Amino acid sequence: MKKVRQPLVIGNWKMHPTSLVLATKLARELKKKFGQRHDATVVVAPPFVYIESVRALLGSGKSVILGAQDAFPANDGSYTSQISIPMLQDLGVRYVILGHSERRALGETDAEINKKLTATIKAGLVGVLCVGEQARDAGGHYLSFIEEQVRHALKGISKSKLEAITIAYEPLWAIGTGTNATPADVHEIKLFIERILTDMYGRTNAQRVRILYGGSVNSKNAQELYSEGAVDGFLVGGASLKAEEFVSIVHRITHS
Ligand code: PEP
Repeated sequence: MKKVRQPLVIGNWKMHPTSLVLATKLARELKKKFGQRHDATVVVAPPFVYIESVRALLGSGKSVILGAQDAFPANDGSYTSQISIPMLQDLGVRYVILGHSERRALGETDAEINKKLTATIKAGLVGVLCVGEQARDAGGHYLSFIEEQVRHALKGISKSKLEAITIAYEPLWAIGTGTNATPADVHEIKLFIERILTDMYGRTNAQRVRILYGGSVNSKNAQELYSEGAVDGFLVGGASLKAEEFVSIVHRITHS
């Protein structure tokens, strides 16, 4: 399937690695392996406490862009432990992952995700909205579940902001399990999300939203998932912690 956009590959480091020394080592390796040019938009989202150091190593070049794994919707105030969007912007962050299933499992609601997404794109950053079902069922209820997540998160967001939104389809059963969704599964959900967006915003506007897949992506399955799944790229967890593997994923989809 012919692609019109440069692929987007986001590495979600989650709560890894276990020390600043290891985080800077990984950033150094990525910088070296990616060099200055590649035909993809590559983002890494380290834990908050490593962002500053990772930024210093990656530099302000376009080779690898900084992301964050969450953000708080208020700009400042008495919100112990929270990190605001202006704080992230100040550190050079341009992408924010929102509504990851691991945050939803800690109690994050669709309403909170909607507030965070609204504030993120208002500030001019890209919001990466994660959606995905816990399990599949023969009756197709997982589709309504995904639809609810998309519609709730986008509530009140106007069509003029869609360019700043990326949706990552991440079925929970595929995250960190070593069992990825099939390219056919991914393609089905990509079309399904596009249909929801078309219903909400019209066809042309819907196409402004990038759709990624995430769930046990590695250098072996990346090419097939990308071309047959017809997605715009990936949100990568485990494999983004190994520089060589992460770089290979990007190479597999840009040199295919
Ligand atoms: C994730 O947690 O966003 C993810 C996709 O993880 P993994 O690649 O390890 O399945």
